[in-house]
Amino acid sequence: MQENNSRVLEEIYDICDRIYTGMSTARTRDHSEIFTYLTELGKVLAGADRASFWKWEKRKHQLWTTSATGTDRIIIPDDTGLVGKALREKRVIVTNDPYNDPDFNRNVDKQTGYVTKSILVMPVTNVNGEYIGAFQIINKLEGGFDAERDVRSLSMAAIICGIALEAETFHEASLHDRLTGLKNRMGFYGDFARKYDAVLHSDKPLSMFISDIDKFKRVNDTYGHNAGDAVLSFTAELLESLADENMGVYRWGGEEFIMLMPDTTLEQAVQKAEEARVKLMNSPCNAEGNIINLTMSFGCATFDPEKSIEDNVAVADGRLYTAKETGRNKVVFEG
Ligand code: GH3
Ligand code: MG
Ligand code: MG
Repeated sequence: MQENNSRVLEEIYDICDRIYTGMSTARTRDHSEIFTYLTELGKVLAGADRASFWKWEKRKHQLWTTSATGTDRIIIPDDTGLVGKALREKRVIVTNDPYNDPDFNRNVDKQTGYVTKSILVMPVTNVNGEYIGAFQIINKLEGGFDAERDVRSLSMAAIICGIALEAETFHEASLHDRLTGLKNRMGFYGDFARKYDAVLHSDKPLSMFISDIDKFKRVNDTYGHNAGDAVLSFTAELLESLADENMGVYRWGGEEFIMLMPDTTLEQAVQKAEEARVKLMNSPCNAEGNIINLTMSFGCATFDPEKSIEDNVAVADGRLYTAKETGRNKVVFEG
């Protein structure tokens, strides 16, 4: 027993050391690695064979995990399985006979060949007591799960996960625009530091356009603010549908959007802007039952690595202004 305890303690120290190193070096800003370690911690604390940590995306009615052992990111509806049940009912769920439990999803076992013998699901809350995710621990190594004892063992991992997840959620929210789901200006700067700055200092060109919906105020005035909001979401989706995988689309301000295009010449960026302009012009938007014809003006530029981000955006913005001044619904890339 003594020996077993000190082995578990050593494992805990090891995992915490790895989490600390991951956090303090911040090699990636993708926090999934830290959640993987925290999941591992839960597994060791509960003395089980497998563990996964599920984040609850309440707005999307989804549960997702990046850290289930040996699998890619899995997304499931939040009204399914034992994890969904634990969050719905706000309680710990233990089953030592899952195949006779109607809420157990045996498809995963069927697909992977794994045999689940016991499960413990522990809901995780933030410090305000709001449920934000759950630990799922599978196959107790010795005997079955005991709700009281195992929850006590797991509580340390659950606390850390709750706090880390809450920080992650706030961080993500601060980078995105709630209406369109696009990244906002803060997201733009974050992506720049993480990704596009390197392109700017490589031998590949980084190009952009900034675009602004024409006479958008009229949409609000004629159809109301909600229809205006629907037009913004529609336009955001249209721009995103045209962006290649390595490109970024951002809501820069009210009805202004930016597309960042790495490894793209000015000529190619102009083509992309033209494509967006024509597509929007030919796609009437159904906003709250109103069919609204839209056009947008564009300013295109290739980044000059000698200039600041703001000065580069100002060049594209100046061209957008020219597009507005000279009749709207056009792409300007000079001057
Ligand atoms: P221009 O062709 O010169 O761009 O004209 P415009 O009417 O599009 O430009 P203006 O800057 O006069 O109007 C922009 C409007 O966008 C004003 C503002 O109320 C509206 N707006 C900004 N953000 C939002 C939003 O989130 N939702 C809605 N519905 N309207 C917004
Ligand atoms: Mg406008
Ligand atoms: Mg504007």
